[in-house]
Amino acid sequence: MINDNTFTDITDLLPEPMFLINRQGKIISANTAAHEILDYKIEDKLQLNLYDITSAPRQKIAEYLRACFRSAELVLGAIDLRNHTGQIISVRTEGCLAQFSTDTAQSLIMLRCVDKRKSNIRFLGLNQKLDEIARERILLNQSNSDLAELQRLALVDSLTSLPNRRSLDKNLNYEWKRAARDGKALSAILLDIDYFKAFNDSYGHLVGDACLKDVARAVQIASQRPADLTARYGGEEFAVLLPVTQREGAVIVAERIRKEVERLGILHNASKAKNVVTVSLGVATVVPSLDASPLNLLSKADKALYQAKAGGRNRVHVFGRSVSASNDIANTQPDRRYQAGNSA
Ligand code: GH3
Ligand code: MG
Ligand code: MG
Repeated sequence: MINDNTFTDITDLLPEPMFLINRQGKIISANTAAHEILDYKIEDKLQLNLYDITSAPRQKIAEYLRACFRSAELVLGAIDLRNHTGQIISVRTEGCLAQFSTDTAQSLIMLRCVDKRKSNIRFLGLNQKLDEIARERILLNQSNSDLAELQRLALVDSLTSLPNRRSLDKNLNYEWKRAARDGKALSAILLDIDYFKAFNDSYGHLVGDACLKDVARAVQIASQRPADLTARYGGEEFAVLLPVTQREGAVIVAERIRKEVERLGILHNASKAKNVVTVSLGVATVVPSLDASPLNLLSKADKALYQAKAGGRNRVHVFGRSVSASNDIANTQPDRRYQAGNSA
């Protein structure tokens, strides 16, 4: 269970204001940065409701909180905080579920505020250092399972138990630098379930969730090397990071994922691609350089994914390869499309 002490123990190291909030909007805990920005003394402890320290309409805040409690992902937002003296501070927010309980009074979300005026880059560098300090503290406190749980929750997607987007970003940064140093290729696969909205509409959200779990497992099984990282990228999107992997290798993994998902045989009568659940995949490979952003790789994979969707879905598309040839072949001979017309 997360409480005031465990929360402040870890978040006091961070420069951004952070709050632990219950379903009613009550602030259970707030870190030092939050007290500072709101101009309250630490000894006062913020015995307030989120509604008391914001100037946005109550309904808007309530909606945002509900979204945070419902989502397995970080929910991004923007709010105007009102400090002790009435001054307004506009911040961007990232909310996520910190503790789920069937007793709704016990469920909590964590809200992190990022000052709009300050650059992200500065925060990123600082956070990395602070993350290190936090990790060291956690190692020292291994008996304190609350802290470890908080750390785990920050990096794991609660529905699929896969690493989440934040975890992927961290790994991507690390692998990018390593590959740049070693002059090695780094590949990424982005994949997205086909016609998933229609799946939810036909079979219901709970069956949708179960489907996401099965697909997550299939994706993970198909990427076999210990260094490969499979993450839930967003709602029904997954990403696989393949260090030291050339384009051809990445295509093999992508094709294996595609088949593995199809083989699950999850009935999807509302799909226009096939009568079972399928995925579309985008593959990108780069030899990173230190002066380029790691996001380039994901952006290329995303463009390739878009082409795979446009080409008819349930297929792999590789960034930088021509579309028309691959799609003609894909429509008739799905398993051979990378041997013909698409070779590197
Ligand atoms: P496309 O083939 O173009 O990808 O079509 P699509 O319907 O999959 O794409 P769209 O982006 O329109 O819909 C994605 C859907 O995924 C909408 C949303 O309800 C569903 N979804 C996202 N996250 C979750 C989740 O956690 N659980 C469930 N059950 N559904 C989710
Ligand atoms: Mg999508
Ligand atoms: Mg989709």
